Amino acid sequence: LLQLSVPLNFIGFVYREIRQGLTDIEEMFDLLEVKPEVTDAPDAKELVIGHGAISFKDVHFAYDAARPILKGISFEVPAGKTVAVVGPSGAGKSTLSRLLYRFYDVQSGTITIDDQDLRTVTQKSLRKVIGMVPQDTVLFNDTIAYNIRYGRPGASEAEVTAAAEIAQIGNFISQLPEGFETKVGERGLKLSGGEKQRVAIARTVLKAPPVLILDEATSALDTTTEQEIQTALDVVSQNRTTLVIAHRLSTVIGADEIIVLKSGEIAERGTHAALLDQNGLYASMWNRQREATQAEEHLKQVREND
Ligand code: ADP
Ligand code: MG
Repeated sequence: LLQLSVPLNFIGFVYREIRQGLTDIEEMFDLLEVKPEVTDAPDAKELVIGHGAISFKDVHFAYDAARPILKGISFEVPAGKTVAVVGPSGAGKSTLSRLLYRFYDVQSGTITIDDQDLRTVTQKSLRKVIGMVPQDTVLFNDTIAYNIRYGRPGASEAEVTAAAEIAQIGNFISQLPEGFETKVGERGLKLSGGEKQRVAIARTVLKAPPVLILDEATSALDTTTEQEIQTALDVVSQNRTTLVIAHRLSTVIGADEIIVLKSGEIAERGTHAALLDQNGLYASMWNRQREATQAEEHLKQVREND
């Protein structure tokens, strides 16, 4: 009995961890075959994807009824545009992306893609059109090539290599003794957070989905890695409907709209320039991050001069 309960608990643990971290849903379903909380409606239809316009209308959501997390959120991501969500930790940013991927259903209000309510379409057809680059990517215990090709299993070797180049990880891979055949994951080569994220980006490049969800890494990546990741993300999100959850404000300057979420409500919204003019929450976050970056650069210079 003990022997059996340990692995089952472990699977439960992994499942929760994966869910919490918004890591790869495809892996979750494929590897663990766990029943998701959300089920398809009996008459669920295939999502018919047009240009991929996203709309949240008066969305309310709570994990526990006693504690509302999202309190009437409305915004749109027009087809091909990029909307960024920023705000303090715990504001509900990742929850928005979990709802869009339909880990959970809204309590009230609606989320639609191309005017189809997510609750009326099959989860499979929904997830086919969405590419997600999570904050914490879990890789398969397999080769780098396998992990990238997972985005589109039929992809050729040349396509896998090209995707890695676009994701700014091609050089890193080619320097490994076994290149794309290097085993990664728990039992293989341990990749850094930034490297794993770029593998996830390469996978998404191959998948080429009409809708993208990006949850940027919170961990302080060094400036070079951050720039490489940013370059990769910019390429992937071009002409795709993109919802980006941004921790570093420097990455959202070009967004078509920035939504500042605070305690489950939209506190401010607008372009970068308009929000700076408002001199509110966004402006203070911006100034704080700029000071932190300047301090970081100053420290680096001091160390280099030593
Ligand atoms: P953010 O991404 O803005 O930091 P999240 O959307 O992850 O915030 O979380 C919003 C709030 O919901 C937090 O207070 C968090 O603790 C809570 N929360 C997140 N996931 C769960 C869960 N699975 N069950 C209960 N509460 C959760
Ligand atoms: Mg988050």
